[in-house]
Amino acid sequence: MESIKCIGCGAELQSDDEKQPGYIPASGLEKENPICKRCYRLKHYNEVMDVDVDSGDFMTMLNALYETDGLIVKVVDVFDFNGSIIPSFNRIVGDKKVVAVINKIDLLPKSVNRSRLVHRAKLMLSEAGIKAVDTVVVSAMKNEGIDKLLERLSKLSEGKDIYVVGTTNVGKSTLINRLIENTSGDKEVITTSQFPGTTLDLIDIPLDGNAFIYDTPGVMLNSQMAHYVSSDSLKHITPTKEIKSKGFQLDSGQSLFIGNLARIDHNYGERNSFNVFAHHALTIHRTKTDNADEFYSKHYNTLLAPPEIETPYLTESYESHEFDIEEDSDIEISGLSFIRVGGGSTVTVRVPEGVEVTLRPTIF
Ligand code: GDP
Repeated sequence: MESIKCIGCGAELQSDDEKQPGYIPASGLEKENPICKRCYRLKHYNEVMDVDVDSGDFMTMLNALYETDGLIVKVVDVFDFNGSIIPSFNRIVGDKKVVAVINKIDLLPKSVNRSRLVHRAKLMLSEAGIKAVDTVVVSAMKNEGIDKLLERLSKLSEGKDIYVVGTTNVGKSTLINRLIENTSGDKEVITTSQFPGTTLDLIDIPLDGNAFIYDTPGVMLNSQMAHYVSSDSLKHITPTKEIKSKGFQLDSGQSLFIGNLARIDHNYGERNSFNVFAHHALTIHRTKTDNADEFYSKHYNTLLAPPEIETPYLTESYESHEFDIEEDSDIEISGLSFIRVGGGSTVTVRVPEGVEVTLRPTIF
């Protein structure tokens, strides 16, 4: 029998094993444009079903890209630069042309200087070894910059297929739906959600004429905060609208909690400004560093929630990163927040063990 793929997630449809990707009750297969049970539940009930696919499987699927000819669209989340970088990117894409798409620009203040942002993005990508022939800033959600991107893609792809790659949650599926909508008028063809790992296999969608656009499964990195909260709690940390920063002046010996998932201690230096960019639902709480552990143990799932967490990470399973900040910089906590800190301080950032924390020049 010819295999049929789920248009929602790309998995091959099958009626044998509910635990495997692509499961659909046999009766569902007879319908027009069938989608698997998992995508059905996601679409209609916003509910995610776990199926057995690990990141090794994803890497195998992505590695198949190496053999193909086409244009790569590398999607980067403006709110999670480091979490957007696939470690073995160059091994996966070989020497294909890469267009970098900086997504979710709607999250940043409107006053942001776009050229500086593009300049910074290029530098960060090139530090990660990714050389893009073009860098385009968009908001897939707000349909901003998409037509310009389509123009660039049509020119650069030279009629070849286009592969959209990125880590989970950067907005690949939302972007592809937009590209399709702006070309053909069809809406929300593939499954998008706030849950990581919705796309399970290559999804091919006819673009114009003979070329196809492919959604690829996102790689979930342990360094992304999404790994540490339940799928349901992700909505409390993934911002969906313009982030208003919250500003604090901290003396040394004071600390800030970002929800219950990160803590910043101002260890040394004059009173300094800390501007926190994070989902508006997260409580940002200032306390004395000396009292911080006790405060956290008492309040991690009350005053400092949401999200609700099963492990009090910041006292039981954490990692500390120390930074000597000489000039105004952003501390990026992958998938949770970035904090703009004035120069002249030494700070320690505590996060769940494994989450990536980096210091970078301000991105705008
Ligand atoms: P994928 O895992 O890379 O395919 O990501 P999805 O397309 O499923 O999107 C992940 C999350 O990011 C969802 O909650 C989307 O609503 C959100 N998202 C995607 N694009 C944008 C955007 O341009 N702006 C904002 N604010 N959120 C976006």
